[in-house]
Amino acid sequence: MFDYLIVGAGFAGSVLAERLAAVEGKKVLLIDKRNHIGGNAYDFYDEAGILIHKYGPHIFHTNSAEVFNYLAKFTDWRNYQHKVLAHTHGQYVPIPINLTTINDLYGKNLDSSGVTDFFAAIKEDVQQVKTSEDVVVKAVGRELYETFFKGYTKKQWDLDPSELDASVASRVPTRTNKDDRYFTDTYQAMPLHGFTKMFEKMLSHPNIKLMLNTDYHEIMHEISFEKMIFTGPVDEYFDFCFGKLPYRSINFKFETLDQKTYQRTGTINYPNDYDFTRITEFKYLTGQKHKKTTVVYEFPKSDGDPYYPIPRPENNELYKKYQALASQSETIFVGRLATYKYYNMDQVVAQALSVFKKIKQENELNLDP
Ligand code: FAD
Ligand code: UDP
Repeated sequence: MFDYLIVGAGFAGSVLAERLAAVEGKKVLLIDKRNHIGGNAYDFYDEAGILIHKYGPHIFHTNSAEVFNYLAKFTDWRNYQHKVLAHTHGQYVPIPINLTTINDLYGKNLDSSGVTDFFAAIKEDVQQVKTSEDVVVKAVGRELYETFFKGYTKKQWDLDPSELDASVASRVPTRTNKDDRYFTDTYQAMPLHGFTKMFEKMLSHPNIKLMLNTDYHEIMHEISFEKMIFTGPVDEYFDFCFGKLPYRSINFKFETLDQKTYQRTGTINYPNDYDFTRITEFKYLTGQKHKKTTVVYEFPKSDGDPYYPIPRPENNELYKKYQALASQSETIFVGRLATYKYYNMDQVVAQALSVFKKIKQENELNLDP
């Protein structure tokens, strides 16, 4: 007899399992259909002995002290500031677009105020920012939009930026200084021994029973539990009754090379060439020392494991229908797939912690005579 059946051992499911077991003393059955914990953040040592991320590069960053301090209970950290270059016009230039990007691309020697004027002269006047195209052309004009965003976005989503919510391109800022970090969050660090080790520690509580290689459909009528928490795709849970919610998938191609390093920074984006979007070299992210190196190429595709919800108006409308069903259901829905949100890891942790607080309050109310 379990208090909770939690479906999915990624961040959403694992944080809730840990909190419910450790704070509330609940008995939790955590299941995942995959053969490992960690969800899409799972990492492992490949044949060459290099720590790699099975589902593409995962870089932890957050502005939330609560999220960072919570995860710090289960891991030490290695400070890491991710840097990305874009390969275009035969050059490698910083992305997000910054002062160096403009000077290198146009052979200029501008300072910050010079580049502010440069953007002011080329940016488009967009009255109402609705789409990802609007966001970029309003900041840097059409030429830079076409150089850095149009092609990359087409590859990643198979959509034009004008068909995607503004929130997608808004993830990548524009800078007038030389800051070449991909993120500017207060906390930027990688779990010292990897994500999987952190999850192992999180789930080591005696009240948590873990069952891998198990789809919840196979067992949910065989076991008894009080309440279910679901972190898989919300449309699948409701048997696609309103139709399929579109997700974007990726084919990851790993390559181990007999050389110490392959490229000059953690990730290189290829906005306009090749079928892949970017190449990431894991040793930059993990700090591992090894005489070989492993890189991953990302080839986006429409079929396959659901990785990215696709933020655009018609999908948001369809999700709302599922959300209405979810809100009437006894089951609790948490995480990137279950709430159809393009969330980073820290946002999923924050969401899970806030769901936990709600559950705790409800439990306390139920205990009150
Ligand atoms: P998931 O990790 O997807 O976990 C859900 C789990 O549910 C899965 O393990 C799945 O197997 C299981 N499940 C689903 N259906 C069933 C079922 N029927 N029965 C049993 N189990 C089931 N975030 C960052 O912060 N930084 C990054 O650099 C970053 N890079 C990313 C790169 C890529 C390519 C991708 C795809 C995502 C990236 N993310 C990044 C986002 C990050 O992966 C997610 O925010 C986070 O992992 C979501 O956690 P989750 O628990 O909601 O979902
Ligand atoms: N993007 C782009 N060019 C880039 C980097 C990002 O067009 O060089 C757009 C693209 O649509 C991408 C989105 O911005 O999907 C978000 O980028 P991010 O790096 O945050 O994507 P993720 O790491 O989540 O795949």
